Amino acid sequence: MNIAIASGKGGTGKTTISVNLALSLGGAQLLDCDVEEPNCNIFLGYNLVKKHDVNIFTPVIDKNKCNFCGKCADFCQFNAIAVLPGDIMLFNTLCHGCGGCGIVCPMDAIGEEKRSIGTIEKSETE
Ligand code: SF4
Ligand code: SF4
Repeated sequence: MNIAIASGKGGTGKTTISVNLALSLGGAQLLDCDVEEPNCNIFLGYNLVKKHDVNIFTPVIDKNKCNFCGKCADFCQFNAIAVLPGDIMLFNTLCHGCGGCGIVCPMDAIGEEKRSIGTIEKSETE
């Protein structure tokens, strides 16, 4: 049997119900799929056995090469780039790291750098 505990809102008791349901059933496999704050492990007690950083590549704009044509901003679906007369601005936190702006840039003015977006941890518990 598969049981899903879900809610779009935080603080509604998903984790509390999930952990206690899994423990009361005994032998259950508990999968915490919360992408923002997965913390069932905190309630269960755990030993961290593996941790690694997750990175994406985000643009670095060379303003000396840029001719402010606006093609990168037109391409970006996330409004992460704004081109003004004589200037260009990158809003790094809006960038999803698709790399498209660098491909469409006719001046080869956009390079890439690594940006950390979080970590993946593996833990074990009895
Ligand atoms: S890498 Fe993609 S998401 Fe990021 S600024 Fe460029 S086009 Fe936008
Ligand atoms: S596409 Fe390239 S040249 Fe055009 S505004 Fe963007 S960075 Fe500058």
